[in-house]
Amino acid sequence: MSADVFLYKADPVRGAEWAALFAAKAPHIEFAQWPYEGDPARVRYLAAWLPPASLSCFPNLEVLFSVGAGINQFDLAAIPPQVALARMVEPGIVGGMVEYVTLATLSIHREWLAYREQQRAATWQARRVRPAGARRVGVLGLGVLAQAVLVQLRGLGFPCAGWSRSQHTIEGVDCYSGAEGLQAFLARTDILVCLLPLTDSTRGILDRALFAVLPRGAALIQCGRGPHLDQNALLEALDSGHLSQAVLDVCEPEPLPAGHPFWQHPRIMLTPHVASMTQPETAVEVVLDNIQRHHSGQVLTGLVERGRGY
Ligand code: NAP
Repeated sequence: MSADVFLYKADPVRGAEWAALFAAKAPHIEFAQWPYEGDPARVRYLAAWLPPASLSCFPNLEVLFSVGAGINQFDLAAIPPQVALARMVEPGIVGGMVEYVTLATLSIHREWLAYREQQRAATWQARRVRPAGARRVGVLGLGVLAQAVLVQLRGLGFPCAGWSRSQHTIEGVDCYSGAEGLQAFLARTDILVCLLPLTDSTRGILDRALFAVLPRGAALIQCGRGPHLDQNALLEALDSGHLSQAVLDVCEPEPLPAGHPFWQHPRIMLTPHVASMTQPETAVEVVLDNIQRHHSGQVLTGLVERGRGY
């Protein structure tokens, strides 16, 4: 009997690393990279950033893995109901996000942008250093990434809060939920971090109304997805001084077109969707564990609940 095929359709360079890891750890599974020219009936697993236009050519597909933490790039209606869908939850992505948000939070807290401007102007001028305890961080989302970020920021002494759809209880974190909790959460937040999935309910959430509730001088760290943000609302809030600065890892579209105001804005730090990346070594461990879970009827790590869209 021929082996099951695991088909990979994403960055081919990292795909080569996945192939070597599969060969070493799961030689019983045949690893193939897109484009696939073998028998489509043998494909049981597909890992993709962007899936093929139609999945119907793989009649025996059992699990679709997103190689990223989000699944908003998938058309959920086009995925046959019997195919399980898992997003990527692996230590490499988590560690990268903890680093990025910590870096951004500390750079805001320690006024890195202002010192950069002062240096350019050859100005030697100390600004008062406030303790971390005086800077309140709030994270939109209380999922895998947000919770790991909050552990780190809480350890640095920042007063921490989080907002989610359902109510959570997390030691040392003030937890808010739902539409009724959002205003109070925003009103106590000096540094707002977005770590939400992109769904119909969260698209455009970073808008004028939301910014207006933040205290004057608050800052934004946007690590969710580009369409969470109303770009004009951000520019207005920055230009009026209501928001002091923004660190943006994601935008819409990616990359931004030449001449877009974000490129040159003195109060915006922009990075090209690099806050965290799936790391082949740890991702393949999780994927192989998930294949085992799938066969033994256990819940998959990162299983997407299609009804709620994340
Ligand atoms: P997750 O574990 O699924 O957590 C999502 C969180 O968002 C949950 O706490 C959920 O609430 C909350 N949420 C969802 N819809 C909501 C709504 N309508 N109102 C309030 N809260 C809502 O996801 P994750 O692994 O932490 O990843 C989060 C997101 O980070 C990804 O979807 C992606 O957009 C982004 N990301 C970005 C990068 C990058 O490099 N920039 C890398 C990885 C991930 P409940 O707890 O109540 O379910």
